[in-house]
Amino acid sequence: MKKTTPLFFLFLLLLLCIQQPLKAQELDYKPKVLLVTAHPDDDAIYAATVFKTTHLLDGVADLAIMTNGEGGYRYSTLGNYIYGKRLDKEEVGRANLPGIRKKEVMAGGDIVGIRNYYFFEQQDKQYTEDIQKALDMWDAEWLEKRLQEIIEEEQYDFVLTMLPQPGTHGHHKASALLALQAVENMQPEERPIILGTTIFRETDGETDFEMLEGYPLTSISQEHVPLTFDRTQKFGFEDRLNYNIIANWVIAEHKSQGTMQLFMNGVKVEVYLYYDINRDEDYAKAKAYFDAVNAAEMYKRD
Ligand SMILES: [Zn+2]
Repeated sequence: MKKTTPLFFLFLLLLLCIQQPLKAQELDYKPKVLLVTAHPDDDAIYAATVFKTTHLLDGVADLAIMTNGEGGYRYSTLGNYIYGKRLDKEEVGRANLPGIRKKEVMAGGDIVGIRNYYFFEQQDKQYTEDIQKALDMWDAEWLEKRLQEIIEEEQYDFVLTMLPQPGTHGHHKASALLALQAVENMQPEERPIILGTTIFRETDGETDFEMLEGYPLTSISQEHVPLTFDRTQKFGFEDRLNYNIIANWVIAEHKSQGTMQLFMNGVKVEVYLYYDINRDEDYAKAKAYFDAVNAAEMYKRD
């Protein structure tokens, strides 16, 4: 056998040094994430972060959906032809969409790697921007309790909600508030980190959202910069691909719908804001998670 030379060890040391920065981006745990949404297509906002969490970081993502999505019949014009039913007629849509949309969300979930679905099946009665009206339409007390039970049982590292911004659907705001209340009920040291999520188009600036008026629990920390994932990052052959493809695939599964579809390809960045309810010392964990999400690389061609 050939004798190993000191030069070989020097080479090995050099190789380890080169690899060190990459290692530093990796997590020493498998992140467990719960997504909380109102309707069966809202989860598209988290698509790239969730894909990388489950496929590249060996993490787990579950999805909690408050409503059965039957109110989406208004946008089912194209769904009429795909499913062979007049889904855009209220009676037909309300009767058929809960089952259809459940299948659609699970098909989308297969793409990003959703493990468990929590269908809370609250009736999707009507559009309102009033969070209280939305909460009144649901069994809010039960939802808060169930969310808390699930979060405690599964011991998630992160809970991602929709950002309860004014001007957005009251159901979206209500789903975020219920998740925040569920987390607030827990012992501080047992709470997951909870983040409010929004998406920016190329033309959008920074969000100035601080808190939903009248709901201090929705307050966003002004000291901790939002965490982001830029979907327009390139990868693949000749750097032709980007992460909007993943979101597009998720959105495309929702053939009974029509408005989320207009967001295809239009998103620049997923933005995750640090709620004030989180402990200051936990921000480093959230930052490290998003650093890892950003750093995790797709397969490269040889
Ligand atoms: Zn929605």
